[in-house]
Order: sequence, then structure tokens, then C-alpha cells
Amino acid sequence: MALLGALLVLALWRVISVNHALRELRRSADRLAQGDLTLRVTAAGPQRVQELADTLNQMARQLQDRLSTVVQQRNELGAVLSSMIEGVLAIDPEERIISLNGAAARLLNIDPSRAIGRAIQEVVRNTALQRFAARTLAQNESLQAEMTLRVTDGPTVSERYLQAQSAILRSEDGGRLGAVLVLHDVTQLRRLESVRRDFVANVSHEVKTPVSAIKAAVETLLAEDDHDPEAAEAFLRIVARQADRLDAIVEDLLSLARIEQESGQILAELAPTPVAPVLAAACETCQAKAEEQEINFSVECGPDLRGQINPMLLEQALVNLIDNAIKYSPSETAVRISAEEQGGELVLSVTDQGRGIEPEHLPRIFERFYRTDRARSRALGGTGLGLSIVKHIAEAHGGRVSVDSIAGSGSTFRIHLRGVNEAKRTLS
Ligand code: ADP
Repeated sequence: MALLGALLVLALWRVISVNHALRELRRSADRLAQGDLTLRVTAAGPQRVQELADTLNQMARQLQDRLSTVVQQRNELGAVLSSMIEGVLAIDPEERIISLNGAAARLLNIDPSRAIGRAIQEVVRNTALQRFAARTLAQNESLQAEMTLRVTDGPTVSERYLQAQSAILRSEDGGRLGAVLVLHDVTQLRRLESVRRDFVANVSHEVKTPVSAIKAAVETLLAEDDHDPEAAEAFLRIVARQADRLDAIVEDLLSLARIEQESGQILAELAPTPVAPVLAAACETCQAKAEEQEINFSVECGPDLRGQINPMLLEQALVNLIDNAIKYSPSETAVRISAEEQGGELVLSVTDQGRGIEPEHLPRIFERFYRTDRARSRALGGTGLGLSIVKHIAEAHGGRVSVDSIAGSGSTFRIHLRGVNEAKRTLS
């Protein structure tokens, strides 16, 4: 009887402990189902219950491994997308935005947090891009297109040129998930192409005029049977003048190309150099022309002033500025040439009392071939490249140019160079 009682108690205890272990397992399984994959089940109880706990633990471990692989892949993909220069935009078959990277948000000027889940037509205010997305989905194939985007940034509206490429997004079983659009900003490329095209057109135009004049003069000379020496000399003078003009254009173009090509080396080779002799040499070069027009120079430059400069190039830049100051000033006026340290910069200025420049021309005055008065510049022997050479020389020094002018009163052109302080330190 006592034995039966003991067996009964034992059986009851086993039932209770199995129940307890199963409850534990269930609680653990619930937590696993809720995503707590770090949980490990420890079940005290019969072997079968322990085996079940081991299986649960193994499952949790595998799930955790797979999940961390998925998270890692997602992070890697996110990092790749966010570091891409190209804008990437994914849409579902209903043209709703699934995801977009930072570049796409910037290019299209949209807020990513408000774009996800909304139709591309609502979010992107560009009909070309909307149509491109719709066409990709309708034709169910990869497409390519170029489009122009108008970007409003405060009061300024600018245009951006986009090259768009699309592809259909498919799941592993081949089902269609939507489409991905890759947007490449080719604005800079287009601008450079247009600058190059303009430059070639400008050079051709500039060269065509003297060449046509030479051709006409030579043809006239050849056509004349009885050579009137005086007329012949006049035609030959035209040929000589136009040949000089061609020579000046070619010389300036070669100068520009050389400075552009060698700018890295020029910057690397800059050394602390006295500035006063450079100003003196530039004035000397322009002296005869100034005297012809009774223009007086005044030069201001401390004898010890030194700068990180290439003296030959800086002299060429100053000669261009002084030559302009003479060309565009009436006689019996003054031209002031100065060099000084200003806020850590070496600033070289050429100030004249000439005709000045109207404000609308100032933003473009340093562009190649830009002239406020083409006929006058040509009559004075100008090529329209002088200021562009000055700008390139300043930039080859790591510096910049600036201009102040009042129409009718005169102009001040400046070259701002870095490195005057370093030069001083070297001195002390
Ligand atoms: P150019 O060979 O025509 O002088 P530059 O590039 O040196 O070419 O100058 C471009 C234009 O800028 C000139 O045609 C002229 O209209 C204007 N310009 C340059 N320097 C001066 C100046 N000191 N005063 C007035 N206008 C100037």
C-alpha cells in the first residue's frame, strides 16, 4: 500500500514536472516567435522535453544567423546605394516609390521620408521622368532616356540634364516587383561640351575675320594687271596687319593652353619671391605704349614684400592688365599699380581712370573672347583673351581675380594670391 502510494506520488510529480517544462517551452517558443532570437531554452525534465528544447535552441540559432546575414546584406546594399553618385529610385508595379537613395532625393529635390509609399506622379514634379517610369512598366523592359530637370532653389531656377536608365525588378521566381530607375546627372558634362563648342565657334570666328581680309587683299593684288605701287603697298599693309592679328590670337591661345596644362606643376614649383621687381618689369614692358598716350604710372610696393609666385607668369598677367588700362583710358590719365598684403593674401591691383565697364558686363568679363565693345577691342589690337589669361595665371597660383568698375570713371582689376604670410615667415 505504501509502495502504491509512493508510485502514485512519483507519477504525479512527473506529470507536474513535464507540465512545468512544457509551459516553460511554450513561453520560450512565444518569445522566439516575437523575435527574441537570443533566447536559449533550458528545460529541466524528461529527455524528450530536453530534446525539444535543444531543437528550439538550434532553430533560434539558425534563424539568428540568417537574420544577421540578411541585416548585413541590407546594410551593405544601403551603404552602396547611399554612396552612389547616381540617383537610384525603385517603384512597385503601381508606380509607388519603394525606395530611393540620397542622390535621387537630392537630384529630384524630394524628402525621402515623405516619398516612400507615394506614387511617383505625386512626388516627382517632372513629366518626362513620370512618363519614363510609366513606359518602363508598360513595356516591361529596360529603357534609356535623356531629360531636362528644372530645379528651383530659392529665387534661382536652373536646369539639370539627366541620363536615365531603367530595369524591371523581378523576384527570384520571376514575378514582377516593379522597376528601378538610375539617374545620372550629366549637367557638368553638357556644360563642358557647350563651353568647348562655344570655344571652337569663337576661335573659328576670330580667325575667320583676319583670314578673310588677307584672302581678299591677296586676291585683289593678284587680279590687278598693272600694279599701282601705292595701292599694292596699301593691300600689303592690310595683309601684314591681319597677319599680326592672327599671330596675336595664336600666341594668346597657346599661352592659355600652356597655363592650363601646366597649372599643377606651376603650383608645385611656387617659391617665395620678391614682388617689386615683377611690378617694375611689367611697367617697363608697357612704358612706351603709356608714353604714346601720355599716361603716368605710379607704383606702390614694399621693397621687402615677397609672395609665393611664379615671377614670369605674374609679370605676363600684370602686363595684360596694364596694357588694358592704357588701351581703355584716355590720354593724360594715371594708372596705379600696387602690391600689398591684405588679410594673408598678396593682392596686386591695377587701377585706371578710363572708360570703366558697365555692371552687366562684369560677371562675364574674364571669359574667353568676352568683350564689351568688339569693334573697339579689335581696333585696339585686342584678342579678347587677355583677361582670361590673367584669370588662368591667378588660378594656376591657387588664387583668384576680381574687378571693381564704374562706367565712365575707371576700373580696378585685382589678382589675389595665397602665400604672402608664408613668404614673410621664411624671411624672419
Ligand atoms: P581685349 O583683347 O579685348 O582687351 P581682354 O580679355 O583683355 O581682351 O578684355 C576683355 C574686355 O574687357 C575688353 O574688350 C574690354 O571691353 C574690357 N576691359 C578690359 N580691361 C578694361 C579696362 N581697364 N577698362 C575698361 N574695359 C576693360
